[in-house]
Amino acid sequence: MLPRPGEVKEIPSDGSVLPVISSIPTRRKVVFLTIDDGWEQDPGFVRQVREQRIPITAFVTRDAVEALGAPDPAGGEGKYVGRGKWGYVRQLREAGVPIENHTLTHPNLRTLGYTAQKAEICGSSKLIRKHIGARPTLFRPPFGNYGADTLRAAKACGIEALLLWTATVQPGGKIAYQVPDKRLRPGDILLLHFRPNLARDFAILVAKIRRRGYELGNLDAYLKAALRRAK
Ligand SMILES: [Zn+2]
Repeated sequence: MLPRPGEVKEIPSDGSVLPVISSIPTRRKVVFLTIDDGWEQDPGFVRQVREQRIPITAFVTRDAVEALGAPDPAGGEGKYVGRGKWGYVRQLREAGVPIENHTLTHPNLRTLGYTAQKAEICGSSKLIRKHIGARPTLFRPPFGNYGADTLRAAKACGIEALLLWTATVQPGGKIAYQVPDKRLRPGDILLLHFRPNLARDFAILVAKIRRRGYELGNLDAYLKAALRRAK
């Protein structure tokens, strides 16, 4: 779903510091889906996104997509870990999913200096461009950890905004809120992971969001409205 004219409040940004966004300023009952890392490459998920035209933005990490190292222990053993590698990410892109930056190795950026952070972020953007054909404009720091150096490094790598979230989606499609009132709010950004049973959990989640009277928004279009990005 796209924003109506005048619906989205402007997020102040003077262009000198990268904007940090954890929700979209709107009063419409719309929420945004994002999905991180890229370990469990369930083909059923791509089918759902494509056939039901569900807007979702992916933040991928090289080591997850290429199945280097061990998957997020919270995810458990998956059937599809690294199954299609970058080919899977390309299928997502072809299904309309923007592919954004979530570093090469998923480090805690607060433990790294500027140069190392820049290598993680620029390296990831370069790799995504090589495999997907489009350069990321959004960055999500692993674990939500970032500092002033992260904002500078991301900007130097061509990133236009740092994207956080307001709620995470757990196995079974359960929503874990970061706010005390435990309800969806207009403009919420939900964080999912490429985990086992993703296709099943995703169907449960989307049905739940719609039952509560919310629609799924196109994050890119809403961000453009919020940041008054010229394009
Ligand atoms: Zn992550």
